[in-house]
Amino acid sequence: MSEVPNVYDTEPIPTAAMDEVNRILQSGDLFRYTSDNSPVALLEQEFAEKLGSKYALAVSSCSAALFLSLKALGLPRDARVMIPAFTFGAVPSAVVHADCIPVLCECGDNYRIDLDDFAAKLPHVDAVIISHMRGHTSDMDAIMQLCDDAGVPVVEDAAHSLGTQWDGRNIGTIGKIGCFSFQSYKLLNAGEGGIMITDDPNLIARAVIMSGAYEHNWKKHPVLLNSFAKWQNKLPLYNQRLNNLSATLIRPQLNELQRRVTDGRRNHDHVASQLNQSAWLSVPDSLPKEERAPDSIQFNLVDMTDTDTARFVEAAAAAGVKIQVFGQSPDNARAYWNWQFIGEIPDLPKTRAMLMKACDVRLPARLTLDECDVIAQIIVDAATATMTPARAYG
Ligand SMILES: *Cc1c(COP(=O)(O)O)cnc(C)c1O
Repeated sequence: MSEVPNVYDTEPIPTAAMDEVNRILQSGDLFRYTSDNSPVALLEQEFAEKLGSKYALAVSSCSAALFLSLKALGLPRDARVMIPAFTFGAVPSAVVHADCIPVLCECGDNYRIDLDDFAAKLPHVDAVIISHMRGHTSDMDAIMQLCDDAGVPVVEDAAHSLGTQWDGRNIGTIGKIGCFSFQSYKLLNAGEGGIMITDDPNLIARAVIMSGAYEHNWKKHPVLLNSFAKWQNKLPLYNQRLNNLSATLIRPQLNELQRRVTDGRRNHDHVASQLNQSAWLSVPDSLPKEERAPDSIQFNLVDMTDTDTARFVEAAAAAGVKIQVFGQSPDNARAYWNWQFIGEIPDLPKTRAMLMKACDVRLPARLTLDECDVIAQIIVDAATATMTPARAYG
């Protein structure tokens, strides 16, 4: 059989970055506020322009961006922030970090926010974080309508959905603030890092100062000069800045973005069509207004018991494909019942049912279609072997 591709390796960092890294190492100029037009400042300009938003602030992680977003919104201690119950543990953690209380919203079989539960909980919250989990975009028209009517600000956690579009608009530009990650498993890889974008000069000014633009370092964010003075010395300095080396690794990758998006979508759709041929596997449709940028595939198991599920995962692993069932792998950070740090865990039967049958397989953009075929075949065969064990003849 063909060799199973490695889905964990990332793409090499473009050579243009390496030359620039060398130059920076020679000069020792690693801190973003030492010089004007530092690599971090240039990354902010380029990223904002690429996404079509007015302002960007690069920080140490997407978690930091989410934290600073809540702080920039001026939410008081114990403000209630609604988040989807299907997200990464970093999201409720950012809420707790900002001294706020996470309110978990049900998610459906298609991994997206359950709008009935969302509408029911909205009157009781002060802000909303929409996690486009694994790039699956919830109905942003309905969500923005509900939140605008209620006067509730929306932060988009687009950590893992850079390049996704909703109705022709870039994800991350629809809510008040959009946050992205540069951690190695995301579309742009700096090891660690994050960035937030907004069109609101007041929000970005507050976030810039709190990210650690102490004294008059905010003068190195030239597009914003008029918004800073009133916040001088009024806000804490949380020091969550990005350094020049990280920004230097990201900047040339911006040119790779469209290829990664196109190839990732091609790979995803190729594998999805094969999985959907199996009676025991189902890939939920994307929403009509959504253009995704996947680097992994999620699918639901159909009519499998927990024992079947364990056998299926084992069969695929034996053939070389690691499948994570969100709700069944121990201590999974995407299973809300493991977020014991938020206090009492609510009962969310829809999300729980989905997590118990929802599978996750990495499918990086750099894979060829032949390599995708190998992965798809192993998954389909594992399901068949689990659900229709070969008859013993003779
Ligand atoms: C990765 C991720 C985060 C956290 O990003 P960091 O940069 O590692 O802090 C938050 N939300 C989602 C949906 C993610 O995938």
